[in-house]
Amino acid sequence: VAKDSGRNRYHYFTPELQAQARMRVRLTNDLRGAVERGEFRLVYQPIVELASGRILKAEALLRWQHPQLGLITPGEFIALAENSGQIVEIGEWVFRESAAQVQAWRRTLAPQFQLSINKSPLQFRAETGVHSLWVAQLEALGLPGSALAVEITEGLLLERHSPAGEQLAHLRRAGISIALDDFGTGYSSLSYLQRYELDELKIDRSFVSNLQPGSKDLALCKAIITMAHELGMRVVAEGVETAAQRDLLLEAGCDLGQGYWFARPMAAPALERLLENSIG
Ligand code: C2E
Ligand code: MG
Ligand code: MG
Ligand code: MG
Repeated sequence: VAKDSGRNRYHYFTPELQAQARMRVRLTNDLRGAVERGEFRLVYQPIVELASGRILKAEALLRWQHPQLGLITPGEFIALAENSGQIVEIGEWVFRESAAQVQAWRRTLAPQFQLSINKSPLQFRAETGVHSLWVAQLEALGLPGSALAVEITEGLLLERHSPAGEQLAHLRRAGISIALDDFGTGYSSLSYLQRYELDELKIDRSFVSNLQPGSKDLALCKAIITMAHELGMRVVAEGVETAAQRDLLLEAGCDLGQGYWFARPMAAPALERLLENSIG
């Protein structure tokens, strides 16, 4: 503790910032053992074919049911779990839970159903043959790789000397789809698009939220969709909240949509009811 700098050092730590810092420490501590205690669960958000309105797949989104603080969303704890390394164990739980869930749905409701799961770049850093285990677990379940998609972000593909390229190729050889999440946020280099084999591109919702006829965002969406199709990827628009946005995206040639206009993330039984209705 630097005594010399005196009281002024603490001047900047407002009570609010102190409270936030304390909360981060608390949540980081509480994350330990949360998997074993069964505090995580997944909610599922439908992903819809724009042309037909059919639910083709869903994204699994993580929730933490904290015993005292209640339901906590990923924005509040994923970064903490990454910093402490606990994201690896949590990510393995997400994988197991998602595989079991999609297997059940494919058996009973929709034989071709696919579930997308989010993967932190840090899960690629653990060189533990994790991905061989994933492929082995899918085989043990009798589940084809195409039942799952893995969502990654651009940052992972830009990391130099990361083992991610090989690991992604390994997953993809097993039939697992690779989706690029939050596309368009943060990076201007597109060279990684030709370096990696990707199946799906998800346009970030920041481009979708202001879609208007004649707007720059619409021009960007059209350009992204054309480029992705040329590269053999299908396109999902994230954060579709209005019918007008849906219509513009459909007209622009976008394949799939996800957002509150179609459905919010929901527990498994609610998605099952939706699937039953969309089939029956
Ligand atoms: P994401 O992968 O881009 O997921 C989409 C987020 O947008 C979800 O937030 C979803 O609830 C929200 N969303 C969906 N439709 C709309 C809409 O129409 N409008 C608006 N405003 N938001 C919409 P959520 O569930 O809070 O997750 C936030 C982020 O946390 C995810 O962003 C993803 O990066 C991360 N995350 C979620 N689950 C996992 C996980 O299992 N593992 C890892 N590593 N990250 C996860
Ligand atoms: Mg995602
Ligand atoms: Mg996303
Ligand atoms: Mg996003």
